[in-house]
Amino acid sequence: MPGIIERFRSYLDLPDGVDPVTLSEGSTPLISMPRLASDLGAVELHIKFEGSNPTGSFKDRGMTTAITAAVSRGASAVICASTGNTAASAAAYAARAGLRCVVLLPHGKVASGKLAAAYTHGAEVVEVEGSYDEALGLARRLSERTSINLVNSLNPYRLEGQKTAAFEISESLGAAPDWVALPVGNAGNISAYWMGFRQLADLQGGDLPRLLGVQASGSASLVEGRVIDHPETVASAIRIGNPARGEQALRAAEESSGRIIAVPDHAILDAQRDLAHQGLWVEPASAAGLAGLRSEVEAGRLDLSGQRVVCICTGHGLKDPHVPAGPTTLIQPRLQDLEELLNL
Ligand SMILES: *Cc1c(COP(=O)(O)O)cnc(C)c1O
Repeated sequence: MPGIIERFRSYLDLPDGVDPVTLSEGSTPLISMPRLASDLGAVELHIKFEGSNPTGSFKDRGMTTAITAAVSRGASAVICASTGNTAASAAAYAARAGLRCVVLLPHGKVASGKLAAAYTHGAEVVEVEGSYDEALGLARRLSERTSINLVNSLNPYRLEGQKTAAFEISESLGAAPDWVALPVGNAGNISAYWMGFRQLADLQGGDLPRLLGVQASGSASLVEGRVIDHPETVASAIRIGNPARGEQALRAAEESSGRIIAVPDHAILDAQRDLAHQGLWVEPASAAGLAGLRSEVEAGRLDLSGQRVVCICTGHGLKDPHVPAGPTTLIQPRLQDLEELLNL
């Protein structure tokens, strides 16, 4: 399968004549969820499962473009701050391109599988005694002083790549859906989706979706209209107190006649469990979109009857297995013991 640059080259604003650095990202499944749809009163609900990208999150869509552009500019090193998935993705694509990769992580705040991925791909991993926002400030300042390329979503090539998920959704459904719900961290992804849907509407006509961006209550800077100095949430990928693309995201939500809301951690974990019970294991942040839809419907603020809804599940659960494995039972290798245990 070709990667997103090859598939969508003419829609992407990239330097001319670049040779894609790709791991065949994109082309992720759009999975129908009839049981969860009926709970929401929606006519259709689909999950865009971004966990099936090569490093397990949507970050790969933006990293193929950002690293490709870095190579075309002659960069020899890249840097990012990360809550985890950006680090894993940058490390993999930099390795693919033969670039040096430095990742700055908020100390003790990154899921174990993401940290392991960054190390395994050969990145130089630096933990910062501080928040993600402080780590991003450092990465930004270093990139301004040196020739090291910043590959966070402040880098416009990241959004160029990430907008391709909107193309894939419209292609699969034959049109844009009525609503798209997704988690909001640094707010690059919601901005990218809006770019993608608008570009398609400009080129081909057709309707635009409404966007529901979802923050965690303990990190709800855009909802509360202030910087959160000590953001807290179980959803580490969106534990961000000062989203770099916050204003763009607020504008996107407003232009789409949608909104950005916040949901508590218990609602995120409920949605994560319910997705898992439908066969999809996503990380906590990735369940925020579904949690947000539910909370709006339950509160009577959103009527989804007759609506086609897509929830973006941004990353796989495998890299963030902090949810304790449930109780197991140890038995002797005897059939009778097993039958008794299972009440057979
Ligand atoms: C990065 C990330 C987000 C947040 O995306 P932003 O572009 O920062 O808003 C959400 N979920 C997962 C799994 C992520 O890795």
